[in-house]
Amino acid sequence: MAKFYYYNKNTDNKGNHEVHTEDCSYIPNSSNRILIGYENICQSAIQRVKKDTNKLNYDGCYFCCNECHKG
Ligand SMILES: [Zn+2]
Repeated sequence: MAKFYYYNKNTDNKGNHEVHTEDCSYIPNSSNRILIGYENICQSAIQRVKKDTNKLNYDGCYFCCNECHKG
């Protein structure tokens, strides 16, 4: 099921921006997140945000994007 994906403006302790789905309990509040877009899977959301921002430091949230969570 496709969802809206967001990333945290702030980086975590490993220097990564955490990527969340719209319905995650751990999503940052609206002033602290940026919309990536509507995607089917976290892999494509992360691929998209890397391309859009020209940065590579994104990591899926452990809770909502576990398949994309590296550490
Ligand atoms: Zn999450």
